[in-house]
Amino acid sequence: MFSYRHAFHAGNHADVLKHLTLIATLAHLTAKPTALTVIDTHAGAGLYRLDGDFTSTGDEARDGVLKLFAALRPGPRDSAQKTPSAPVKSPDIAPKDIAPALQQYLDLIAGFNTGGGLRIYPGSPFVAHQLLRPEARDKLKLFELHPTDGKTLTANIAQLEAGRQISVARADGFEALKALLPPPNRRALVLIDPSYEVKTDYAKVSACIQDALKRFATGTYAIWYPVIPRPEAHELPRRLKTLATQAGKPWLHATLSIGQDPTHGPDDRPGLTASGMFLINPPHTLKEALRLALPQLQAVLGRGRGQDHSLLSGG
Ligand code: SAM
Repeated sequence: MFSYRHAFHAGNHADVLKHLTLIATLAHLTAKPTALTVIDTHAGAGLYRLDGDFTSTGDEARDGVLKLFAALRPGPRDSAQKTPSAPVKSPDIAPKDIAPALQQYLDLIAGFNTGGGLRIYPGSPFVAHQLLRPEARDKLKLFELHPTDGKTLTANIAQLEAGRQISVARADGFEALKALLPPPNRRALVLIDPSYEVKTDYAKVSACIQDALKRFATGTYAIWYPVIPRPEAHELPRRLKTLATQAGKPWLHATLSIGQDPTHGPDDRPGLTASGMFLINPPHTLKEALRLALPQLQAVLGRGRGQDHSLLSGG
């Protein structure tokens, strides 16, 4: 337990899918004037260095955000900046044809890296904060259980001087969510992004959603999960679909696979090649946003056998 540190994975293809979806969802939800509560049950450390030692273990951003920037937003680099893991293929996407949701994602990440190069990657708390409106009294509620990441998150958030707009708690996000639903204004986005370090996380996500839909059926729920050969991982989106259908609520399910690493030998550990986002009560604009963005993500990030994307909806 607790060996997972998101810093090893920051900016990888899974973060790209998750944060692009989060941005597109929040862009819609914040278009209405009423205050919104965003609850991030598994917040991580908030900000990550892409040029630090920590990420070098996995260097996963090289097959994620770094590749996207090299292909779609080439610009000056500094010597400390890492480069994509493989030569970047030309995806044949003219700047004017970049899907709006992907463009929004690139712009938001670039906003954290104004000095040139790509050294900082924002985690979900900082991504969400960028879209929240102090004047509308939007709120951000963050939960992180890891002692070190919890401390780092608290310190990172303090720098924003956001006052009561943001709260950080070292608590179990699955449990803490119960007391927050329904939110006072009855408008909320709940992001559930566990590490799935222990396989009980899959069952906890289902139980958490089942309970949350009873307390607050009209909330927007966004769940990230890894697509890996493990029965619990296959079962989770099916279970979420059943829960949404039983509650009579619409759902949207997006996956992105970048495929096998062609440089890997048969004995190398494959690492995470695919992940999914499952949303209940998604904004009605999200399906079209992802329909345009997913093929472009695959075109740039796809690297070998098994690369794919999918987008399904119902309800
Ligand atoms: N949401 C973050 C982002 O997108 O930047 C990444 C989160 S990371 C995948 C999962 C985090 O959940 C880890 O930092 C881990 O320490 C934390 N965690 C694990 N179990 C938890 C729990 N029950 N409640 C809150 N946080 C937990």
